[in-house]
Amino acid sequence: MTFSVPSPDAIPRPDPSGADAEFWSALRDGELRFERCAACGTLRHPPRPVCAHCGSRATEWVTSAGSGEVWSFTVIHAPTLPAFIDQVPYGAVVVRLDEGVFVVSNLLDCPVDELTVGDRVELVPTRVDDELTLPLFRRA
Ligand SMILES: [Zn+2]
Repeated sequence: MTFSVPSPDAIPRPDPSGADAEFWSALRDGELRFERCAACGTLRHPPRPVCAHCGSRATEWVTSAGSGEVWSFTVIHAPTLPAFIDQVPYGAVVVRLDEGVFVVSNLLDCPVDELTVGDRVELVPTRVDDELTLPLFRRA
């Protein structure tokens, strides 16, 4: 099977507050954006108020090119949420973007027996509804 987005009514939804609101807002505009420390340049994801590298609270946002590789994956056989029960088995992947940031996501159009560490992937901002767009990926 391949992963597909569950119905908007069934999918678990983020509850953005503070810095992660910018992350989700950018996705609605089709961009994957990350916080970058304005003092030392370290990217940080998920968004958080203090840089783990230098302790600065100074932040700016940068747009990812959206390309990377499958760093790791697992195949889900027993979903923990009812929204995904019709999808098993499906893959959950860790993507390492070329900027060095790791994102947990899913691959579109990729049967679980074809999941491969090292495959090049590209971002596919996937609209669920007016409020939610997910950062999914597809093999490049
Ligand atoms: Zn820093």
